[in-house]
Amino acid sequence: MATSKSRRGRRKKSLSLPELYDRLFAEYGEQHWWPGETPFEVMVGAILTQNTAWTNVEKAISALREADALSPEALRTRLLEDIAALIRPSGYFNAKARKLRALGVYLADYGDDIEKVFASKPLDELREELLALHGIGPETADSMLLYAGNLPSFVIDAYTIRVLGRLGIIDLDSRPKYEDVRALFQESLPTDVQLFNEYHALFVAHGKDVCKSRKPLCSECMLVAYCPVGSSITA
Ligand code: SF4
Repeated sequence: MATSKSRRGRRKKSLSLPELYDRLFAEYGEQHWWPGETPFEVMVGAILTQNTAWTNVEKAISALREADALSPEALRTRLLEDIAALIRPSGYFNAKARKLRALGVYLADYGDDIEKVFASKPLDELREELLALHGIGPETADSMLLYAGNLPSFVIDAYTIRVLGRLGIIDLDSRPKYEDVRALFQESLPTDVQLFNEYHALFVAHGKDVCKSRKPLCSECMLVAYCPVGSSITA
């Protein structure tokens, strides 16, 4: 039997990524993500949501729709300043207008057929193609692949990094790279679009409502028994 001294000295067991999913899913249930009426809207939303809240993205998408500018053709042919004015609520609107223009130009190569884009080549090649576009980083590319293309590319965002770091699953001090964290998920989970979709949404739910940036609600958290940060806060 372990002594109290050895119990105190024993390191907490980290949750595996499948175990963490099970606990998050048991707590929050199905999330029914991602907002966006069509795959094209999801691609536009993935750009507009960079550095802003989704409520602002919804306003920008509504403005594009009302101005009949929510199409690949409109994004590449309308005046850039007009697109920028329409998406103003999403912030960084001049830069995002240029990114949307690049998306519109890219889609022309596929006859503006989004299904054709996602069926055109293997996932890794398509991911590289998206990453080569102006203004599309890995989180945006993976959001497009997963939520618009229904392809199994795990999305890593700030919520994911925060929760994993606090749980000790990744070491924040070593500044983990996006690709390394994504590889953890790609290698530890079954290749399942629905699972990737739900898991990412569960991180968002947990990170927004409980594992908050400044004051995490550790005393209400179902993960506290596995969490070095939570245990030190609630001790
Ligand atoms: S115990 Fe606290 S720090 Fe750990 S995951 Fe839960 S809310 Fe976040």
